[in-house]
Amino acid sequence: MRLLLLGGTSEARQLAALLVAQGIDVTSSLAGRVADPRLPVGRVRIGGFGGVQGLRTTLREFDALVDATHPFARGMSANAEDACLTDGVPMLRLERPGWEPDPAWHLVDTHEQAAETAAGLGARPVLTVGRTELARFVPHLGTHPVLARVVDVPEVVPPERWTLLTSRGPYTLDGEFDLLRGHRADVLVTKDSGGSYTRPKLEAAATLGVAVVMVRRAVPSPRVTTVHDAHAAFEWVRGLA
Ligand code: NAP
Repeated sequence: MRLLLLGGTSEARQLAALLVAQGIDVTSSLAGRVADPRLPVGRVRIGGFGGVQGLRTTLREFDALVDATHPFARGMSANAEDACLTDGVPMLRLERPGWEPDPAWHLVDTHEQAAETAAGLGARPVLTVGRTELARFVPHLGTHPVLARVVDVPEVVPPERWTLLTSRGPYTLDGEFDLLRGHRADVLVTKDSGGSYTRPKLEAAATLGVAVVMVRRAVPSPRVTTVHDAHAAFEWVRGLA
């Protein structure tokens, strides 16, 4: 039983640790986007597969796939679903639950809508949406004094009035108070990543009266079985093995 585990999340690292401890042959796959990634235990491969066809070729060497990529890594998840359903490879989706919505949040479906909504709500935004999404905020927020927190510096040069802060969670509540107060933020833009690592900013924003614009997740595919924690995924793999 050889498992391909699409990772880049803490849940994927937890699952890899459980599988390695059980002696199951698992290869974790990372996209290679982050300069200094947190590596799971066990075998790791890094880099894209080359679309659906490349993934189908790679999957010839595996018996099953667990897609434990980030809830917003939609392209990789769609490719995994396509490849596995085409070739009959058993597949499971491991996706952490979203955050319990706060009625005060401004929920939107796209990053463009988030930018427009934020521009209407405040003058000093903080963006925690990921480096690769920042360009989508420039049309609406390009002249605002934005503080954008990212893991790695983006390839595109940000607008002159923007400040980049490079850091990686988990974050503390005190640290998030400092972040929002330090920037005199009046609106926080984020996406429904879920989990505990980046949750404290939402509590800090609620306490300080900072508006929150939240990008919703896409609707999950009905064609793929989904579990919400590493232990449930571990049981699925063990059942196959
Ligand atoms: P994406 O847009 O869904 O994927 C774009 C392409 O990157 C995929 O088609 C694939 O290239 C490659 N790729 C993505 N994840 C991969 C993986 N685990 N292993 C090998 N190739 C992968 O993905 P993304 O949103 O840029 O996320 C990239 C990685 O960062 C993911 O592993 C994800 O779990 C992690 N991450 C993402 C976010 C986020 O907010 N999106 C946050 C934290 C961590 P090919 O087509 O060439 O196969």
